This record gives sequence, structure tokens and C-alpha cells, in this order.
Amino acid sequence: MCGIVGYVGPRDASPILLDGLRRLEYRGYDSAGIAILTPGGKIEIRKSEGKLKKLIDALDGRAPVGNLGLGHTRWATHGAPNDTNAHPHADCTGRIVVVHNGIIENYAELRESLRARGHKFVTETDTEVLAHLIEDEMRGAKSEGALALVGAVQRTLKQVRGTYGIGVFDQADPELLIGARHFSPLVIGMGSGENFIASDIPALLPHTKRVVLIEDGEIAALTRDSIHLYTLDGEPVERDPLQVTWDAQSAEKGGYPHFYLKEINEQPAALANALRGRIDERGVTIAELDALDLARVNRVLLLACGSSYHAALVGKRVFEEWTRLPAEAVIASEFRYACPVIDEHTLAILITQSGETADTIASMRLAKSAGAQTLALTNTIGSSITRGVTATVNLQVGPEIGVVASKTFSAQVVLLELIALDWARRRETLPAARIAELALQFAQLPDVVEGALGTDQQMRRVAEKIWQRKSIFFFGRGYGYPTALEGALKLKEVSYLHAEGYPAGELKHGPIAMLDPDIPVIAIATQSATLDKVVSNIQEVRARNAPVIALATEGDARIAEHADEVVYLPHVSEELAPVVATVPLQLLAYHVAIKRGTDVDQPRNLAKSVTVE
Ligand code: GLU
Repeated sequence: MCGIVGYVGPRDASPILLDGLRRLEYRGYDSAGIAILTPGGKIEIRKSEGKLKKLIDALDGRAPVGNLGLGHTRWATHGAPNDTNAHPHADCTGRIVVVHNGIIENYAELRESLRARGHKFVTETDTEVLAHLIEDEMRGAKSEGALALVGAVQRTLKQVRGTYGIGVFDQADPELLIGARHFSPLVIGMGSGENFIASDIPALLPHTKRVVLIEDGEIAALTRDSIHLYTLDGEPVERDPLQVTWDAQSAEKGGYPHFYLKEINEQPAALANALRGRIDERGVTIAELDALDLARVNRVLLLACGSSYHAALVGKRVFEEWTRLPAEAVIASEFRYACPVIDEHTLAILITQSGETADTIASMRLAKSAGAQTLALTNTIGSSITRGVTATVNLQVGPEIGVVASKTFSAQVVLLELIALDWARRRETLPAARIAELALQFAQLPDVVEGALGTDQQMRRVAEKIWQRKSIFFFGRGYGYPTALEGALKLKEVSYLHAEGYPAGELKHGPIAMLDPDIPVIAIATQSATLDKVVSNIQEVRARNAPVIALATEGDARIAEHADEVVYLPHVSEELAPVVATVPLQLLAYHVAIKRGTDVDQPRNLAKSVTVE
């Protein structure tokens, strides 16, 4: 779920591991730890519940010294987040060290049978079974040295069900670091005279830009000078390294106090990148669609979780409006256990920023097994989702470090709309003039979003008024509805203030009962086909004395008569409005969070990519 860093080489491992874990902090975690093999052949484990800083403070400048080590940040799934359950974990003899991201589903049975064989467990984690299984397998090993550990890990992994990215080393082999993965991210960093493993690329960037991907069901054996990949059956695997093009800088805060605020503010540049190569005077071209058999498709499913699901709701509307294909947005965790009607005429679009979202990956597999074509929309090249699909469209917006999505949400909306627009062009379901007009609006969108960022000071003032309220309602219709959902989710995520997003017309079917002068309502009242209806809904709310803050289109003086405060935004077609109207809502959530003193970049209980169910 969270972070793994491993090192083998001539340098002192601790600072490399701690720095690597710091660079993975954005993934969210609840405890951290390191294990080092000292030159004297001793394994030193230091771990602590809480943030990495707590571990570093406890080390007090006396981190264990050694050239082989593993570091881990944990997001607890089995057992409380405490010092004992923090990784790394060891076997009974203290000779094997394991770190793990993911879930071992059959850990309870394995633990029972290991206990029956005399193993002693000290933690409540599912992970600990791995250390004991490897211990057992080492005893039975026929081969010697490196191959003994590789074989023991292979045999161990064949016994487990679930998801894992793991790092392992053995006290008896100071030159060998093992990594393996199955539906949890793990990559190899190739150094010169040293090698690394990490659950995500930013941890590697200070040391190397050459990475080797590990595929599901593979195991990697690293020494200072060599990298060998095997299947779990022991077959050697050849894989060329890739060159990463990010620099460490692009993962830094760039002068802003928080990554979240930086990423909100860089949306104009991020969207310009997302549009690059996809929009020109001829219109819109998403070349990746050529890999699909579009003529075969008669139905589109958009599958996603969290903010990506809100982007999917926008996608559903544009697909139906522009391509005239039936489209449906479904929450991936619901879809995967439903009994969906899918066939070879379905296109499933999987939307996941990280490309590692467990429910979205499972949904992809389900859709594929029913014969559907699959298209991934992700920000992470080489991520798990990209490996199983027919085609991938990359957001091209660079790493998003804040746990809460901002620029990746707006890029998801833009890319879904570009896909729909290009498809409409191919299907001839929209007049060429309308396509050209929309293409021009997309080309201008980065500037329009820049304009929307101009609401920052106003949103700070709104935040000052509402930050102590017990609840906030967001409502909108049509394209304003997913915008309302996204605004409410941002507020909940970063400020922990209760918020609800609702379709405006639905308010009177229940939630209006809650309204009183203490519950502000944020109305998405930008230009749209249903604006008059939204204005009526605003009046219904005001009749209950709830204060109304309206997002409106510049020049619309009428709204001011109905709302307590109006936030004016530049004009765009209503299909593009979610991208523009979300900006002040992202800023509002930020300013409320600052007033409430929350951990903006790593809100409590949240993780950047949800790689477990
Ligand atoms: N399931 C393991 C645990 O609860 C690993 C969690 C993680 O991915 O960090 O310890």
C-alpha cells in the first residue's frame, strides 16, 4: 500500500532508505521502519508507529550502519498501527527480514499451520507469515547461497494468496537483496555498483533514472553488480531497463507550503501538458484510440473510485451527448462484485490516477474476461493497470504528490472529454463545426483555469466564514452534479469537515430537512441548460434560511440577487465547466483545512493509491 525502499551497494544504507521513505511519504502511512545488516553480520531493526520523523528522532543520529537494508512505511490492514506491527518483520531465528505492502489473504490458515510446526509469532500482521514461511523453506533448501534464498522465497510465494510487493534479505547473505510483486507496485533502480528496489519511482530519483519493471508473479535478486529476474517457477526473465524522464525537482513543493496547493496552482501547466499532441487546428486526435476496435463498441462503461469516479460521471454525460453511445459510470468496488452485463461490444474505461487501484484493476479483469475491450486512463506509466488493457491513455501531468487529487482530476475530465470528442469525430455524431469550436475551447482551457485560480483570495474569505460549521451542502445539476460531488469530497478529505454533494433537484426529496442558517449551501450555478432550475433550487434553499454561496459565470448579474455570495468564473461550454468550477472548490477545501489545522498533504486515514480492497 505504502512504501518500500531497499538498498545493496557500497554506501551506508540507512540514509538512503530514510530519504527514500521520505520521498514516498505522500502515499500516506501510519508507521515506519528500517532493517540494516551491519558489517559484523548483525541485523538491526528500528521501527516506530507514526510519522517517519518520529523514527528519525528516535534514531537520534545513530541509525544502524551497514550496506544492505530495507525500509518500509506501513498502512495497516491487519493489526493496529503500533511499534510491534510496524515492518520490517523477522522470522523466529531473526535471520530473515521481510517488508511487505499488500495483503496476504490466507494468512490465518498459514499462521495456524506454522504455529503447529512450532513457529512463534510476535505481531498481528498478515505479513509475518512470510518471514516464517521463508525460514521453513530455507531449512528444506537444496541449493546453496543466493539460489537458496531465491528458491525459498519462490516456494513461499506459491503458498500465499493475496497481493504483495515485498523486500527480503537473509543475515547469511550480505550481498543479496530480494524483491517480488503481485498486484502491489515494486520497481528496481539500477545504479552503478549498487542497486535499489522501491515501491515507487520518486524514491529512486536521487540515485538513478534507470529502472527495471518487475511484473506480477516475478522475483528479483539484486547484488551490487547484478540484477536477475525469475518467475516463481524459477524461469529466468530478461527485461530491458527504462529511462525515467522526471527529475526530482518536479516532485518538490516548488515554493508552496503544501503539495496540494502547488498542484492546484499548476493545473494550467498540467492541462497544457495533457493537451499536448492531442489538439491542433484540425481538431482533436487521441492516437491511442487506434489500438481499439471502436466499430465493435456499442456501450461504454467508465469504472473508477473516489475523485476518478466523479470524472467518470462527467465522462458518462459527454460520451452519451457526443458519441450517442450508451455510457455508464460505475464505482469499481461495486462493479467487481456485481453481475454486470458485458460482452465483446463493451468498452470498459478504467480510470485510476496511480494505475494501482485494486478495485479498478479487478474491474478491468472482470470486463476483460467477459470479452470487453479495455482502455486505461492513468497518470502512471508502467503501472499495473496498463499491463492488462487493450490501450492506455496517459494523463501526462507529472507526479501528483498531495494525497488528495487535484490536477489529476481535472486532467481525467479533460482526457475523457477529448476521447469522447475524437470518437464523435470518427463516428460523425457531432457536426464538424461544433468539434472545431470545442477543440478551440480545450486549447484555451489552461488560460481559463488560470482565471479560475484568481478566486483564491475570495475562497479564503469564504473559508473564514464557514470553517467552523458542522456541515456544508454542495449542489448542482447536469455537469454541475459531479462538480458538487468533487467539491464535497475535497472538503471532507483535506479539512475533515462534513460535506455532501447532491443533485440540486434531489434536495427537496430529503436533505432539505436538514437545512438551517448554520448549514451553508454551495450552488454550482454556472451557465448551463438547466441554470433556471438551479436558480429555483437556490430559492428553495434560501427560503429555509440557509446561506448560499453560488459559483456563477462572469456577467450573470441575476445570481447575485439570489445568493449571499457569488464567485464568478470565466465562461466555458457547460461540458468543460467541471474543470473550471472545481478550481475554487479545491481552493476552498485548502483554506478550510488551514483554518482547521489538518495535515493537508497527508490527511489522516487516507493513502494516495488504494492498492487494497
Ligand atoms: N498487510 C500488511 C500489514 O498490515 C502490509 C500493509 C501495507 O501495505 O503497508 O502490515
